[in-house]
Amino acid sequence: MGNHTIKSQTQVKILGVIFDSKASWRPYIQHIQKSCLSRINLIKTLSHTAWGAQTQMLLKIHKSLILSKIDYGASLISTTKPSHLRILESVHNSGIRLSIGAFRSNPISSILNIAGVPPLDIRWSELTFKIAARMARAPQCLHSSPNLIFDNYKKYDLDNILTTEISISPPWLISININLDLHQLPKKSTSSSQYRNLFMEILSSKQQHALIYTNASVVANRVGMAIIHGDTHIQWKLSNKCSIYTAEALAILKAIEFATNKVEANQIIILSDSLSSLMSIQNHWKPTDLARKILNAHTTASFAGKQISYMWIPGHCNIEGNELADKAAKQAHLANNPLTSPVFTYQDVKRIIAIEAQNQWENKWVAQTTKLHEIKRTTYPWPFPANISRKQETAITRLRIGHTYITHQHLMKGEEPPDCTQCGSPLTVKHILTECRSYENERRELNLPDQLADSLSPEQRNLTTTLKFLHNTGLLNKI
Ligand SMILES: [Zn+2]
Repeated sequence: MGNHTIKSQTQVKILGVIFDSKASWRPYIQHIQKSCLSRINLIKTLSHTAWGAQTQMLLKIHKSLILSKIDYGASLISTTKPSHLRILESVHNSGIRLSIGAFRSNPISSILNIAGVPPLDIRWSELTFKIAARMARAPQCLHSSPNLIFDNYKKYDLDNILTTEISISPPWLISININLDLHQLPKKSTSSSQYRNLFMEILSSKQQHALIYTNASVVANRVGMAIIHGDTHIQWKLSNKCSIYTAEALAILKAIEFATNKVEANQIIILSDSLSSLMSIQNHWKPTDLARKILNAHTTASFAGKQISYMWIPGHCNIEGNELADKAAKQAHLANNPLTSPVFTYQDVKRIIAIEAQNQWENKWVAQTTKLHEIKRTTYPWPFPANISRKQETAITRLRIGHTYITHQHLMKGEEPPDCTQCGSPLTVKHILTECRSYENERRELNLPDQLADSLSPEQRNLTTTLKFLHNTGLLNKI
């Protein structure tokens, strides 16, 4: 082109991702593997069993230096061959294994469980779903979505996600009046009647204002909301993806639209018992999608000559309008002709995606037959208390996984599994902690629990006893 020769290339790097002519992703995966090697070495240095950094610190380093690199471009490269993906899994698993002080021979599922990090396939599908949800928020990007992401659209009904709006007024010109006087009263020592009296007192100075009460309810996966203005009661059935926060904020939004179009008075107070929803619209500078929509509706209302202010009222204090709105919101699903609103927010779907990923991992873990699964039935992490050393953390982790130096050194040396020299039984963690005759006195002295699941549980008292046992028997240095 012009005086330049355009060479044919088999690879091109765009925004750090290497695209290859065969679309195999192999060159990019090899690039990640190579650049993670020095990072793995750093963790190796810092993870010394005797003086190394603590597990949580090393896991943080792994997540920021290695996992972030692996995750980048995950939604693209997750379509590659399983054999290519295994290269990245191996990098990831090595970083985790070193961080928690486990051996190479340990089952990967146990290593990931101890670290509280889901397997890469689950993590990547969660990341891809989140990207799909983010694209749905910005509908102008839809047409460039790959097919994989369109499938995710259907699964989560992403067409109904609340899209990001542009603020119609600059943040410095937005003025929102939220009365939080009732919130100033100490909740513990204020009775319902005191709340009500102060409420009536505040309202007595606002006789000209029209009042709109809003409320929302989430009961057994049924989400509803309602607004009450005089004799007008309007109920909506909402998407079951909505959190209570979203439902409360949507009710405020509907109240503003109602105030703008249907209320004759120009001075209006919207009353809500959801402090977090009211606080969210105070954040003009960095609002959520829904808060920005509320702010835009507020600005539109003020262009139409409506002065809308907001007030927090306590729930369940016999404030009539609030009680009616509460009842109407709860009954929205039973009402004859409730309005329906299918929208939900990015935050809602993000929470659902995270819960589903957690459940998927939990189901995978339940099917495990590892030694760790016998004592730890869940994927939720068991963090160590701050006062125990790296050596102690490593020892407990290895005992929980069931692979320690004394019980599994034969694997490294290529020998037969050892038997206990005292009892003749196979040498296992269970044998050492609950049965072995050599340590009977120490066990009795410390009242070490009989069950392995108890002595290795995250409960501080049991953990302290087990560590004392390891110290008194001299086993701590052999694990
Ligand atoms: Zn023994």
